[in-house]
Amino acid sequence: MNPQPPTPNLSRIWLSSPHMGGAEQSFVKDAFDTNWVAPLGPNVDGFERDLQQYTGAGHAAALSSGTAAIHLALIMLDVQPGDYVICQSLTFSATANPIAYLGAIPVFIDSEPQTWNMSPTALETALKKLTAKGQKPKAIIPVHLYGMPAMMPGIMAIAEKYDVPIVEDAAEALGSEISGRRCGAFGKFGILSFNGNKIITTSGGGALLSDDEALIQKARFLATQARDPAPHYQHSHIGYNYRMSNVLAGIGRGQMQVLPQRIQQRRANYDFYTQLLGDVPGISFLPEPQGFFSNRWLTTILVDTNKTGGITREDIRLALEAQNIESRPLWKPMHLQPVFQHHPYYGGKEAEKLFDNGLCLPSGSNMTDEDRLRVAEVLLKMFEI
Ligand SMILES: *Cc1c(COP(=O)(O)O)cnc(C)c1O
Repeated sequence: MNPQPPTPNLSRIWLSSPHMGGAEQSFVKDAFDTNWVAPLGPNVDGFERDLQQYTGAGHAAALSSGTAAIHLALIMLDVQPGDYVICQSLTFSATANPIAYLGAIPVFIDSEPQTWNMSPTALETALKKLTAKGQKPKAIIPVHLYGMPAMMPGIMAIAEKYDVPIVEDAAEALGSEISGRRCGAFGKFGILSFNGNKIITTSGGGALLSDDEALIQKARFLATQARDPAPHYQHSHIGYNYRMSNVLAGIGRGQMQVLPQRIQQRRANYDFYTQLLGDVPGISFLPEPQGFFSNRWLTTILVDTNKTGGITREDIRLALEAQNIESRPLWKPMHLQPVFQHHPYYGGKEAEKLFDNGLCLPSGSNMTDEDRLRVAEVLLKMFEI
């Protein structure tokens, strides 16, 4: 009897997993040693300073999540039930959910092909139609997906023309830039996320950025249950429990020390994939427009089945999965989600096409040469290169 070949016991290669730098634990230890085990303290102050200095935004508030940051931004922009808020359609649901928390109506906008983010043309059409109907929106939320900055110069010019503030969702784009200006510092508000899969993580967390100091102070006030100054508990506003823990902010301070390295590592992944697949007919990447710099949080490809000899995005995903390698289709546009499909939408089929044909490849900054080799083997076999 022939012995069975050993089943390959392959460890999972993730799309994006946490990658500690080393200093995190000493900041966390400080929190314990000084008993600042609370949603305030020196690590929270230090992390806010780090974020403010790094992004170039005037001020930063460390919060419990990126979603909380969007929620607070919309509250401070006075979004009320029945109001309209413009939102990029191709994104994670966390961008749009806070609009619904406030009983407001999201108006979804298609993507453009250069960055896959909010189309300035579709945005202008939406603003023109909404203002003509007396439905001027309270905010515009563009997103920098996968680290690629949105067309901010165009978006900002249109927002200014119609006098609507921007809440910039930079959850995936810490360290990305346009002409040397960092993402998160373009809008009236910018938001960041430090969820476990982002370029740096605090296990869970987020931040709100703004040049307006009074607004950031108000965000901190709302995020700590809106306590008025008084010896007893006095409230004249509805508050939230949205502040970041001083323990987790310690992780954030350690992560900030290695952020430049993490960006380099993610960009090296992108270079690896473009070298591997750059000449394969039907596979395309997302190059940086002139003056744009992406942190390359995730490397993404588009698959044109007409040119790959019939190989689809799903074929690639399943072949990788068979080797215990995680990959994932691009975000499913919000206007196609069952929960949001009855809301207004402006644009064409760009976001839908991206969803149908796009794939995110394993992009962790902690991928080893061996991991890359395993991914390469699957892809090389698939495309017979
Ligand atoms: C991760 C993410 C968020 C939400 O951040 P959390 O910290 O997980 O709440 C929002 N928008 C986008 C585009 C994201 O990728």
